[in-house]
Amino acid sequence: MPTLGNPQKTIEIIQKYEFAFQKKFGQNFLIDPHVLDKIIAAAGVAKDDCVLEIGPGIGTMTQYLAESARHVVAVEIDSNLIPILNETLSDYNNVTVIHGDILKVDVNQIIEQYNEGRPIKVVANLPYYITTPIIMGLFENKVPIDNITVMVQKEVADRMQVGPGSKDYGALSLAVQYYAEPYIVANVPPNCFMPRPGVGSAVIRLTRHKTSPVEVKEPELMFRLIRASFNQRRKTLQNGLNNSQEVNYSKEQIIEAIESLGLSPSVRGETLTLEQFAALSNAFTSLKNR
Ligand code: SAM
Repeated sequence: MPTLGNPQKTIEIIQKYEFAFQKKFGQNFLIDPHVLDKIIAAAGVAKDDCVLEIGPGIGTMTQYLAESARHVVAVEIDSNLIPILNETLSDYNNVTVIHGDILKVDVNQIIEQYNEGRPIKVVANLPYYITTPIIMGLFENKVPIDNITVMVQKEVADRMQVGPGSKDYGALSLAVQYYAEPYIVANVPPNCFMPRPGVGSAVIRLTRHKTSPVEVKEPELMFRLIRASFNQRRKTLQNGLNNSQEVNYSKEQIIEAIESLGLSPSVRGETLTLEQFAALSNAFTSLKNR
């Protein structure tokens, strides 16, 4: 049974090790067992699963994961937490703690070693300051993943889930939805953490698409077009693409590509769906190969 996941035990461990929270590492530890149960259930962690946990902290969620999974690999950057994890996880023989920076460790190699290269689940209460690089890094590096179920800042969860027509819609929404199906599992108030974060939080599950929802000949070009379109939100799509350093097509080519989709060059980029960005990207590829 997990011993952590409540305020009393968390305070006890912190005092015993004279642990000082480091803001720069986004340290807000979970102290609510209901939220922990909900995360594990939403991720669908089962007895044959290998789970990667990013930032185990004092090992609270790690204990819950170890109860449900076959193996848990937890990557923690803060050296002060390693002796604490050695104590709080000492009853579990299915946990490997790696002291390192998740943005630098070779996750593919971890999966090869602990799950013979088969897809894993990623579960975490993420350090909010690096939410986007962590998630995009996992997707872009083609890490084999079933789903990523993570606590993030509520506003970021909303941005990942929305479509065109919302002020939150942007490059992150499109990037996430290209790779995965997002689902907001729960909103989580600050009093479920120690110390309390200054922002609201949400648990989001990103289920990796088995096959891509759109066919894009050059995904990297599509992402450049998306970035260019949202960098200058108030501009028309044509002007946004024209002014971007990342998009090297003439004004005439840009107009031709946009019109080939049946759209007006004065349309705003923020109204385009993922399917339309894919079609636009393919139109530029065809222009280039003509
Ligand atoms: N999982 C714990 C919990 O829910 O109570 C702690 C979550 S806390 C929000 C984020 C954790 O990520 C901290 O333990 C922090 O030290 C760790 N962390 C921050 N940056 C990291 C990085 N680049 N690589 C690995 N861990 C990191």
